Amino acid sequence: MGYFKSIREPIDFVFIIFYKLPSMAELIILGTGGATATDKRDNTSFFIKSGDDRILIDCPGSIVHKLKKAGERPDEINLLLLTHIHPDHIYGLPSLVHSLMLIEKEIFIYGSQETVNFVATLLDLFELRKPQIKCKTVLIPVNPGEEKIIGGGLRLRAIRTPHHSSSLAYLLIMEKDSQKWLFSGDTPPHPPLWAEAKVIDLLLHEASAPHRFFETYPELKAVHTSSYELGFYAEQAGVRRLIPCHFFGEVDFSLEEIETEIRANYTGELFIPRDFDRWPKKI
Ligand SMILES: [Zn+2]
Ligand SMILES: [Zn+2]
Repeated sequence: MGYFKSIREPIDFVFIIFYKLPSMAELIILGTGGATATDKRDNTSFFIKSGDDRILIDCPGSIVHKLKKAGERPDEINLLLLTHIHPDHIYGLPSLVHSLMLIEKEIFIYGSQETVNFVATLLDLFELRKPQIKCKTVLIPVNPGEEKIIGGGLRLRAIRTPHHSSSLAYLLIMEKDSQKWLFSGDTPPHPPLWAEAKVIDLLLHEASAPHRFFETYPELKAVHTSSYELGFYAEQAGVRRLIPCHFFGEVDFSLEEIETEIRANYTGELFIPRDFDRWPKKI
């Protein structure tokens, strides 16, 4: 007579470990120039991919074209941080919203109260906040020193800079990426920025021209930073990684001169960018 024997055999457990590498935010440098473009450099702006967030820092012209050229999707932008209202940082905004007018989406736009008021006027001038515009802009003022949660859990801290009455620098804290990046916007060397810069992963700071031009045009000293000054203060602050930007197009110098002046003092990681460069570099 047969019977079924309950067989209890040791079971081999196979543990499948889903090991997730930490994500890494990606920076796409859409432009590296100052107010005057050259044949190689357009106005400074950045595009950041962090998790599901797509963050644009400043909005000069041809953003849609530049993002498509970089293989990225303009319709994915959900956050826009504006440093100030000089044309080279903001004039492309009506065109960006107009280009996305048929797409139902929201773009959250952050800036100082003065910047946000200016943006409202600018968009209304082009009738870009009317109901038929499906791309909705949500304007959010940020006070200097204030910290806000933005997008999918990023933290944004604003720091007043002495360039224009509307100017803010932004510290972007991407906890999921374990990254803190500081964007100076246009500014002369400014002690509160160096205090923040001690503890961050990446500083993107203007270095508008070599120092000899600041001697020729001393009025620049109150509103911009030379490459010599950037290297000097970045070294003092202990900045680990530095990307200079906002290179003037109206005076003649080479990026090698910028690098030499920064390296006169700075010993940390240095990346001299060209338009459409990415950071970190893909291996
Ligand atoms: Zn500028
Ligand atoms: Zn400016």
